[in-house]
Amino acid sequence: MSHIFPRHTKALPPVAVAGEGCYLIDAEGRRYFDGSGGAAVSCLGHGDTDVIAAIKAQVERLAFAHTGFFTSEPAEALADKLIAHAPGDLDRVYLVSGGSEAMEAALKLARQYFLEIGEPQRRHFIARRQSYHGNTLGALATGGNEWRRAQFAPMLIDVAHVSPCYPYRGKEPGESDAAYADRLAAELEAEIERLGPETVIAFVAEPVVGATAGAVVPVPGYFRRIREICNRHGILLILDEVMCGMGRTGTLFACEQEGVTPDITAVAKGLGGGYQPIGAMLCTRAIYEAIAAGSGFFQHGHTYMGHPVAAAAGLAVLTKLTDGGLVARAAEMGARFGAALEEAFGEHPHVGEVRGRGLFRALELVADRETKAPFEPGLGLAARIKREAFARGLICYPMSGTIDGRRGDHVLLAPPFIITEEQIGEVIGKLADALEASL
Ligand code: PLP
Repeated sequence: MSHIFPRHTKALPPVAVAGEGCYLIDAEGRRYFDGSGGAAVSCLGHGDTDVIAAIKAQVERLAFAHTGFFTSEPAEALADKLIAHAPGDLDRVYLVSGGSEAMEAALKLARQYFLEIGEPQRRHFIARRQSYHGNTLGALATGGNEWRRAQFAPMLIDVAHVSPCYPYRGKEPGESDAAYADRLAAELEAEIERLGPETVIAFVAEPVVGATAGAVVPVPGYFRRIREICNRHGILLILDEVMCGMGRTGTLFACEQEGVTPDITAVAKGLGGGYQPIGAMLCTRAIYEAIAAGSGFFQHGHTYMGHPVAAAAGLAVLTKLTDGGLVARAAEMGARFGAALEEAFGEHPHVGEVRGRGLFRALELVADRETKAPFEPGLGLAARIKREAFARGLICYPMSGTIDGRRGDHVLLAPPFIITEEQIGEVIGKLADALEASL
């Protein structure tokens, strides 16, 4: 009898024993194409020998040195390399063990920043209803994913939520992208006015929305409008790139394609590529200097932050993404993947939209394409698609949920950047069969 506490106690998963390139292999010898990279994690695929060598070398040299006493060579090198490739005036890196930790650090740093500069009255965060920022309590409160929040609502801090930028469902008929962006910006500004601009700490958003609604790309100009509003009111912009960052959308940071720089950003998943648990919060020089010139101590920390072996893995992954050309490959293969998905599913009677950017793609599933009516909740559609795809040797990431008060179902795809043209065909073939069997 197993003593593992699994995620789903009623559907025990197979035992994974090996990983080879884009495939995972279970104890029965079955092979699964990792079409969602787990949850947008495995950007390099499995078994990358350079990353494995870097981990081995580091663990033999130094496995752990607590950050209360030491910094370490791989942590310093990773921070330098992240900043060398980061947009705008992002200047400092706080290394943690995953996405939720990076977001908790982002929220706390934002609050502490205002204490340090003498604005203690700032205490509100504003986020979007279509969002997920992690499962720890601060991050969970910030996210708008109703399904994940519901049970813990009494434990969550009060975060204001505004409409997402979700063109497929949010844009009015005939409305231009610019008018839609203006309408959403006006809604944010009205919320800031309602709370009192001098009491707001930050606006928090994912540049390209991940799990909650499936690779939702903002309309052009949306984030520039948001940035202007934040600047006008002295509010920080926190961008959560935990899922969409690290090359997934075809640039190392997704915000590069929006032409904005955040004050604070969080990355994780693709930073470790699955080889080690690691995340990072990046902040601007101004924020760092406020702490350095003030109390000199960020009142936050975790025992395993800045872990040398995780940092060595992160550095090896980042080197492959940048110097090794894999971000460029994600852009190139992403465009082909997007076109192939469009060709295969663009006219499908139950696919409302094929969307995404780079190797971050999704299908939104609907009962009726004309009305965009979603499927009935009782169908358990996401679980069915996951099961049918898995049975055919494909790992994908289907989600059902309520978005902005309306139901929505989607399948998220985030394959490793080493995916080949032939493997794109394999993913599409298996997904088409799985949808056929599930819908
Ligand atoms: N932020 C976003 C956008 C995410 O997609 C996730 C995880 O899915 C998180 C934060 C939390 O990251 P983690 O699961 O590594 O704690």
